[in-house]
Amino acid sequence: MTRVEGVVVARAGGAYRVRTDAGVRDATLRGRMKQEDADRVLVGDRVTLQLHDDGAITIEDVLPRRSVLRRRNPGGRGRGVRHVAANIDQLVVVGAARDPVWDPQLIDRFTAVAEANGLPVAVVINKSDLDPDAGSMGTPYRAAGYPVLVTSAKTGEGLDALQRQLEGHVTVFTGPTGVGKSSLLNALVPGLTLRTGAVSRRARAGRHTTVSAEMHPFGEDGYVVDTPGLRDIGLWGLEPLEVGQAFPEFQRVRGHCRFDNCRHVAEPGCAVVEAAVAGEIAASRLESYRRLLAEAERAARPWA
Ligand code: GDP
Ligand code: ZN
Repeated sequence: MTRVEGVVVARAGGAYRVRTDAGVRDATLRGRMKQEDADRVLVGDRVTLQLHDDGAITIEDVLPRRSVLRRRNPGGRGRGVRHVAANIDQLVVVGAARDPVWDPQLIDRFTAVAEANGLPVAVVINKSDLDPDAGSMGTPYRAAGYPVLVTSAKTGEGLDALQRQLEGHVTVFTGPTGVGKSSLLNALVPGLTLRTGAVSRRARAGRHTTVSAEMHPFGEDGYVVDTPGLRDIGLWGLEPLEVGQAFPEFQRVRGHCRFDNCRHVAEPGCAVVEAAVAGEIAASRLESYRRLLAEAERAARPWA
């Protein structure tokens, strides 16, 4: 029997695919782990494998995680939290300058979920070829301190910068449908297809296993993570407290609000509102914050 280490790159029910120095191996959980909860081993986990004499491979242990991406269902408090992936380094949210229309409220939902999970964020504005003003859509995000990349999968603009942003990191690459996520990744890693396409092709080929999460190798030691659970990340629920901390550019001025517990909604002497009026904070970000807060407060008090 031999022990090796690896990274879980895919999971389908109780079956795991693990990348080791010796190649990709299929594994199951060792007996005792199966009894424990289903989210015990996540895509992104570093694990030790036991290679048994009869050829079976079992996951024995999960090594300490540096992060866990948690999903809170809207309104689902406490028990409504699921663990989606482990050891994620960053979330890259992609929008399109046009077609579909750039939607700051939607982009801000993704950045807020990343913040709630303690993940660094970068914003990509794709399809720059369709709008000469694409770069200006990034202004609120530069003000928030996020890296902003303007790209076109069609002309190749910004692809080098995107490559550098993804290299060496484990990235959740996400954003609304149709903005060009698959096209961008394909331009960088020919053959890398996100699940949307990959699964339907497999389904057509008559494969029945539903892969529930997948990490695609990117460059030397990077990965791009894609799980069905990540497709609708913009719909994940947030706690009111999380919303309050999800806008990093507010943190710099909130200490100047007249009230310590200012929610930046209708309180007098609000420094965040003043900063928005002065143009230091984007009005669209304040608007997103207020919508997310109202939503989170409604969900937190379903009886109200
Ligand atoms: P996804 O749903 O985010 O993965 O988006 P896709 O990669 O499937 O792209 C959706 C559509 O947008 C496709 O028709 C692509 O050809 C097109 N598209 C993607 N990137 C660009 C771009 O940079 N410029 C233009 N003009 N079209 C793009
Ligand atoms: Zn305030």
